[in-house]
Amino acid sequence: MDDADWKDWRWQVRNRIRSGRQLAELLKEAPIAAGSLRAVIRTYPFSITPYYFSLIREGDPDDPIRFQCVPDPREVSFSLGGVDDPLEESRDMPVPGLIHRYADRCLIMATSKCMMYCRHCNRKRRWKAGAADRAPLRAMIDYVAATPGIREVIVSGGDPLTLPEKVLDEFLGALRAIPHVEVLRIGSRIPVVLPMRITVPLVRILRKHRPLWFNTQFNSPREITPESAEACERLVDAGIPVSNQSVLLKGINDDYETMRRLLYGLQRISVRPYYLFQCDPVRGADHFRVDFWKGMEMMERISRQTSGLCLPRYVIDVPGGKGKMSLQTFSLLADSDIS
Ligand SMILES: *Cc1c(COP(=O)(O)O)cnc(C)c1O
Ligand code: SF4
Repeated sequence: MDDADWKDWRWQVRNRIRSGRQLAELLKEAPIAAGSLRAVIRTYPFSITPYYFSLIREGDPDDPIRFQCVPDPREVSFSLGGVDDPLEESRDMPVPGLIHRYADRCLIMATSKCMMYCRHCNRKRRWKAGAADRAPLRAMIDYVAATPGIREVIVSGGDPLTLPEKVLDEFLGALRAIPHVEVLRIGSRIPVVLPMRITVPLVRILRKHRPLWFNTQFNSPREITPESAEACERLVDAGIPVSNQSVLLKGINDDYETMRRLLYGLQRISVRPYYLFQCDPVRGADHFRVDFWKGMEMMERISRQTSGLCLPRYVIDVPGGKGKMSLQTFSLLADSDIS
């Protein structure tokens, strides 16, 4: 491998780490006992780009990068009662792959494929072998066209930037051609896990379909690297605003200093912190959940001492498909100075 290979997203995709043996060799240790690893990845497969793997600090079992990408036995052994689909997304699906929960916008799961499988993912139920890789995009376009109340379409996944460029271009173009669709939004973790994929030709495709907003997911300040900063800068340069949706994760960003470094770092690379999500009660991700009183205390402290441009809304997606609710309102009510 030379430098040109490393910077080539196709090389990164071809060389993703996907076997236990490879993982043990690279970590210079078995990540977990082989039998237990097999049990985890039978239920929740793994895939790590060499780039993302290179951010792991050797020898640190509590590394925040490692936590997000290396399978952990707790995914199948530890439970606080998490379920496969806590948000009951399948209930609000008028056509397969399209969730219409809020009147003026809908969310499309354009593919279930990702370049890296984040261990905390709230859609990990969809990774299971045998699940359809892609729901028919045509039916989703028809639904949006027939529903005049929808003014914004969020194209998510999985990761929509795993789609072939031609498919993505045509899909965005078809949505854009619907007169009542005013705004498109892409939800993708590619700038964080495979930043070299944000190439000039890809950005050219995206910019054709503006107004287009791009939401990504940085969870740790260690993910802010020259490569990921450059990927975001390319998008911003093309007139595509980039925002960030983090997930509050135990051992990764649930302390004041780390969260503040993350938010400052994002502002420095022109990425606007948008949401901080309370980790959903998802089966296989319970070990990442942080008590929300702890989260509120941390965010309350941060909001008193930090520029407004760095502040995400701390939200919980209320189980049972009831939608997002701000947790800051709660902390305001609980604040004795105000009540
Ligand atoms: C989060 C979400 C959206 C987008 O909501 P915003 O508050 O606009 O970011 C849309 N649809 C569904 C189903 C969602 O979960
Ligand atoms: S990129 Fe998003 S959808 Fe894919 S595994 Fe990570 S959190 Fe889940």
